[in-house]
Amino acid sequence: MSEKTSLQEQVRERFRQYLTANKLRQTRERFAILHAIYDIEGTFTIEDLQEIMQLQRFHVSTNTLYLTTQLLVEANLLLRHPFSTSAAVFECLPDNRPRSYQICNSCHRITRIKSKSLAQSLETYHTRSFTVSHRIAYIYGTCAMCASAMEKQLKLLNQKAQADIS
Ligand SMILES: [Zn+2]
Repeated sequence: MSEKTSLQEQVRERFRQYLTANKLRQTRERFAILHAIYDIEGTFTIEDLQEIMQLQRFHVSTNTLYLTTQLLVEANLLLRHPFSTSAAVFECLPDNRPRSYQICNSCHRITRIKSKSLAQSLETYHTRSFTVSHRIAYIYGTCAMCASAMEKQLKLLNQKAQADIS
């Protein structure tokens, strides 16, 4: 069994247990959505997920997608990032390893940070009054693309101001 297949099996089993424990139905749609989600690398929105399901010719309503992702979040199989964008951003959690992200304040683009020191700090963080379920850090700022766009805009504004004076 490949690493990926065994992960898919583990995840399916955890979802099955969650549904049984909560007396929820184990529908074909729910497992098809779970399968599609665990094939996605990185972050995604409901809209992205809908497109993927359509490409696989699996027709599910947006409502089913919302409800199933909600169940997966509650089952701790999916993370909903607390970003302040208009659409909810999700990512699957195949393991409990620490993760860190940088988020652009301007375009809201999210990128994964691969920093050993940050991962180590997250890994060793413990406190008595709080039971940790996920170790995730967010760093906010401006991405290179937005910074260069802002610089260009500033230059144009300055040129315009100069032209207005002369
Ligand atoms: Zn940006």
